[in-house]
Amino acid sequence: MDYYKELLGLIDEQERWRANCINMIASENVTSKAVQRAVASDFGHRYAEGLLGGEVNGVHIFERFYQGTRVFDRVEHLAMKLSKESFHAEHANVVPISGAVSNLVTYKALAKYGDKITGLSIPSGGHISHTKVSAAGFLSLQEVAYPFDNEEMNIDVDAAKKMVLEEKPKIMIFGGSLFLFPHPLREFREIADQIGASIMYDAAHVLGLIAGGKFQDPMTEGADVMTASTHKTFPGPQGGVILCKNKHKKRIDNAAFPGLMSNHHLHHVAGYAIALAEMKEYGKAYATQTIKNAKALASSLHELGFNVLCEHKGFTESHQVVADVSKIGGGTKIAEEFEKANIIINKNLLPWDNLEKTANPSGIRIGTQEMTKMGMKETDMKEIAGLMKKIAIDGMSPEKVKKDVIELRKNYQKVQYCFDQ
Ligand SMILES: *Cc1c(COP(=O)(O)O)cnc(C)c1O
Repeated sequence: MDYYKELLGLIDEQERWRANCINMIASENVTSKAVQRAVASDFGHRYAEGLLGGEVNGVHIFERFYQGTRVFDRVEHLAMKLSKESFHAEHANVVPISGAVSNLVTYKALAKYGDKITGLSIPSGGHISHTKVSAAGFLSLQEVAYPFDNEEMNIDVDAAKKMVLEEKPKIMIFGGSLFLFPHPLREFREIADQIGASIMYDAAHVLGLIAGGKFQDPMTEGADVMTASTHKTFPGPQGGVILCKNKHKKRIDNAAFPGLMSNHHLHHVAGYAIALAEMKEYGKAYATQTIKNAKALASSLHELGFNVLCEHKGFTESHQVVADVSKIGGGTKIAEEFEKANIIINKNLLPWDNLEKTANPSGIRIGTQEMTKMGMKETDMKEIAGLMKKIAIDGMSPEKVKKDVIELRKNYQKVQYCFDQ
């Protein structure tokens, strides 16, 4: 009973605290009441091992192992249908329970033990699941990093083309976690065909921007597979999804089930499908405002003296703003000071940091998607930049700034861009 009370108290504490914070972790978001309803629904108690078998003459063929999935089959069918429409894909697999698992499924489907893969190095924005310390390690995949242009904050196309022709990877990964500008993907389609490689686009961060039609459209640009998390810029519950061309459908489906999942998370699939329906209606407005807010925050921070990356390119085309704070204490100190003021962001390695700098990297990464989802606009971003300056540049005590943070956040307590706002 004591533990029970303590835990319920902790849930209350978390919700009270984060409702009074400026939440700007670039990989987080908040969900609508309807998505929350799905996540807490009976689907979370159930099993639906197996896959939806497809459609014959308008009748769905279900390959399930347990009884009781009649209603869920319709949910999963809608999740797949809406995914294919939203991301211009021939096939969708909604089974993966996270973004990293989506990547693991894709590796299992498209590579063999010991094969080479190419992607960004972690300081340049690659995700751990692109490397052998994480998902890529299970198949002992050998990662080779693309040459990166630190000025442009993007892959150096000419040098990377040369590298890929020499290395002949089995999978070429695009997309990443530090992600300001669309990646060159079309440029690599021909080479991929030439060397027999597949192109995997990791849309974990930018899925919501893609759904809103405001970032690149990877499946149209030539990706074989697009993997993603469903909870970063895409405002769904935590989970994963894979989109692919039909020619990879069988291998992707088999790698997901029975390959890596037995049951999947039915409540996640239901919540994700609701978020897809919301994004059909509101996605464009949400993605547009998210990017506008990122640009506004970046230029305000720049004007106030922060070393924001890529001024010459308008700072960002995504939900992210990245600043080099190595001259004002480093990423760890700034992120910790911000937290004391209820501003939640993360420290981040930058392309010129080596991995030894992981404990105190040069950068901070700020995401505008969640506060946009709560209704904030450009003027709020300007105000947030001012609060950040007070702490990081003026050296004002974060505890003092916290009062202004709570005051600002008071006006934004309802999730927007959804049917039940
Ligand atoms: C976050 C992230 C992932 C992993 O997603 P999870 O849902 O946390 O497992 C994979 N790839 C990239 C690029 C990411 O940023």
